[in-house]
Amino acid sequence: MLRVSPFGEDDVVVSLLTEGAGLVPALAKHARARRGKSALAFEPFHTLSVELLAGGGELHRLTSSTIAVARTRLLDRGEALERAGLASRWARELSPPHTPEPEVFEALERLYDALDAEGAPDAARADGAVALLAFGLTLLEALGWGLEFGRCVRCGRERPAGRGAFVSAAASGVLCSACGGGAAGELPIEGALLDRALAGATELDAAAIAPLMRVVEEAIARQAHAVGARKGRA
Ligand SMILES: [Zn+2]
Repeated sequence: MLRVSPFGEDDVVVSLLTEGAGLVPALAKHARARRGKSALAFEPFHTLSVELLAGGGELHRLTSSTIAVARTRLLDRGEALERAGLASRWARELSPPHTPEPEVFEALERLYDALDAEGAPDAARADGAVALLAFGLTLLEALGWGLEFGRCVRCGRERPAGRGAFVSAAASGVLCSACGGGAAGELPIEGALLDRALAGATELDAAAIAPLMRVVEEAIARQAHAVGARKGRA
């Protein structure tokens, strides 16, 4: 469950990222009247088992919803909640509706689990930042907009291992100085971080990821804007 929005007297419209059908917006009748345990099935960030009825348009009907994995710890942690919300928005804005994206589904489950995991609050916070970055990188990659860290996206020149480089969100990867990298005064991202991101983002150092996070956030915002513009034209 990515998002729950009130609708009318006691209905809700939910955004679901489903394993089998990708992004599905659905109407749930009388969901706001629910109390206690069954109300959990209408909160974001849990994994649900649902039954959907295709409607005439984009909006399906949610006819049954039960909790498969509850992530209640996450809901009590401000920072984790914020990260889960951000990732859910990214998934909602970038995923094509009614198209299965199993990699995105899996990556989002991993992120929600990491944010919900038990452990020291400090460790959880650092892990949460790395997990969010890893999700952002996977989301872009899975939907065909992956960032290139190994070579310049313009001229193809390889970035030697260990060497820092300018990474452009607009160009979707490394831009060498000859191709205009750093022309706007941006700082290079350190080589060790790019090496680790290239190898898969799980071993990133939480203290060092901020510059890479900025690139990922900008790349996602750009794609969301482009997707929004295409939807607007359709
Ligand atoms: Zn170049």
